[in-house]
Amino acid sequence: MADQYDYDLFTIGAGSGGVRASRVAAAHGARVAVAEEYRVGGTCVIRGCVPKKMLVYGAHFAEDLEDAKAFGWTIEGKSFDWAALRDAVQNDVTRLEGLYGETLSNHDVTVLNEHARITGDHQITLASGKIVTARYILIATGARPFIPDFRGNEHVITSNEAFHLDAIPRRILIAGGGYIANEFAGIFNEFGSKVTLANRSDTILRGYDESVRDRLLQISLTKGIEYCFMAEFEYVEKQDDGSLRVKLTGQDERIFDVVMVATGRVPNIEGLGLETIGVECGKRGEIVVDTFSRTNVDYVYALGDVTDRVQLTPVAIREGQAFADSVFGEVEPYAVDHSCVPSAVFSHPPIAAVGMTEGEARNTLGSVKVYQADFRPMKNVVAGRNERSLYKMIVDAATDRIVGIHMIGPEAPEIMQAAAVAVKAGLTKADFDATVAIHPTMAEELVLFK
Ligand SMILES: Cc1cc2nc3c(=O)[nH]c(=O)nc-3n(C[C@H](O)[C@H](O)[C@H](O)COP(=O)(O)OP(=O)(O)OC[C@H]3O[C@@H](n4cnc5c(N)ncnc54)[C@H](O)[C@@H]3O)c2cc1C
Repeated sequence: MADQYDYDLFTIGAGSGGVRASRVAAAHGARVAVAEEYRVGGTCVIRGCVPKKMLVYGAHFAEDLEDAKAFGWTIEGKSFDWAALRDAVQNDVTRLEGLYGETLSNHDVTVLNEHARITGDHQITLASGKIVTARYILIATGARPFIPDFRGNEHVITSNEAFHLDAIPRRILIAGGGYIANEFAGIFNEFGSKVTLANRSDTILRGYDESVRDRLLQISLTKGIEYCFMAEFEYVEKQDDGSLRVKLTGQDERIFDVVMVATGRVPNIEGLGLETIGVECGKRGEIVVDTFSRTNVDYVYALGDVTDRVQLTPVAIREGQAFADSVFGEVEPYAVDHSCVPSAVFSHPPIAAVGMTEGEARNTLGSVKVYQADFRPMKNVVAGRNERSLYKMIVDAATDRIVGIHMIGPEAPEIMQAAAVAVKAGLTKADFDATVAIHPTMAEELVLFK
């Protein structure tokens, strides 16, 4: 049966989900090819999580070097070289791209570095004109930045370009209220840019717990980040000196050196030929799938950001693993559990969260107990940095089960990864109380809530 096709599996997109699915399917014995039109590794490795986190590390030195004085260190002549950091990050991205390519070839996956589109039943046509057939097709084409429609939008950049700037802008406007906007606001602010964050609503980080969002706003304002709420683009005009004249609703015209939009991401479905075989898409352009990542066409699957379920790398990877095991492995088909997915915002300081916010818990459960620790980390006290952390635990009053943890403070994502295991496992507040603290740490607050 398999031999009537060139491949058992043809994956479109070698990002987080596509690489995992292809490699695991091949390990199960399938003949696999994957097409990638840009760079193997996808968004996360090439222009997302990985280079972003490296910039976050680089940026945070601004505060660490400042704080070092209070710990007795004299650092003379400190300066920051953006080009050095940018190039170091890009070198590592290239190294990782190579590793991902090696992983695929070590598993005998054929990598085709070109655009692919579906041109018929079980049929894919590559940019080079080559036509191949496959028993199964997996669409793992990810998402791309959404740029709103306004006059002059050709002058803005997105996160894709932010990693390659020639210089750190003196004045940057970042549009958006989500995690990417807030992370880059923190990064550029630490590098010395005057950062303005504009959002069309009156809040940032929708979906995160309100107290934690308010704390980030308050700390960011103290650090000098400016916020414009209820502001949408009217126009952007390029001036003779290269700077950008920007008009936002409700604001006077302002001049910036760079305007970056981080106003959401849209599924990559254009030019894929989905209509050729009738693959169903939803209102936001997402490919509609069931819990097993199956589309309405029985041999076509889709996973990761293009399905717009939870747009995070570890989720795309799990979906890729589950797909490959279920279709090509000797296991009962299984689905990925999308509940209780922990997440982080690598702002300065970072945020981490798992489970329900206080608002969601009150609406869903009725009776909840909320425990809160609002404290100044020891390091900040010594450094004279007036920046307080906030940890919140949400407990179902009826069962004592912890239904959510929300944190903002140094290393919150590192601490959260372990705490998320406990929440996912359904542990109770009493279980946390029974655990002895590690002292002195920030994380000990999690077992000392009163
Ligand atoms: C700035 C930024 C920061 C992020 N930070 C984090 C983070 O800290 N943590 C986290 O978990 N997630 C983060 N993400 C999200 C994460 O990168 C994505 O959720 C993840 O990469 C999705 O994986 P995927 O396999 O669905 O798609 P992708 O990784 O986007 O891969 C899709 C691939 O398909 C290719 N492609 C598309 N169409 C075609 C075609 N027709 N033919 C051939 N190839 C094609 C693309 O070139 C791309 O390489 C971040 C994203 C961004 C943009």
